Amino acid sequence: MNECLFCKIVAGQIPSDKVEETGALYAFNDIDPKAPVHVLIIPKKHIESALGLRQEDRALMGEMFLLANKIAKQKGIDKSGFRIVTNIGADGGQAVFHLHFHLLGGRSLGWPPG
Ligand code: AMP
Ligand code: ZN
Repeated sequence: MNECLFCKIVAGQIPSDKVEETGALYAFNDIDPKAPVHVLIIPKKHIESALGLRQEDRALMGEMFLLANKIAKQKGIDKSGFRIVTNIGADGGQAVFHLHFHLLGGRSLGWPPG
């Protein structure tokens, strides 16, 4: 059985606050938001992180950015600006090992990250 948290969310086995869905992608509000807008965008298929991407995933990655842009416009943060983050591995701060984009906005975000 697949024990991945985000695979379970895609399968509807764990509830989530859905924002958008396409054939290949699912987007939902982060349970512990770090900004007024904090949406997670994930592929429905399990990929451990950006490091696990293969040649066959090139179109999928393009779709992820396009969906992030669509949601940013929906949420009204496209003009003010926003950030797309994907954490990779321990030093990257990755806690859930299923590829995800954090779409963050609605406030001024600090740089550099902690
Ligand atoms: P990362 O540290 O990049 O792996 O990010 C994992 C994110 O998943 C964190 O921002 C968590 O708040 C979020 N998260 C964990 N469990 C859930 C859940 N059940 N529903 C929505 N977001 C979650
Ligand atoms: Zn998964």
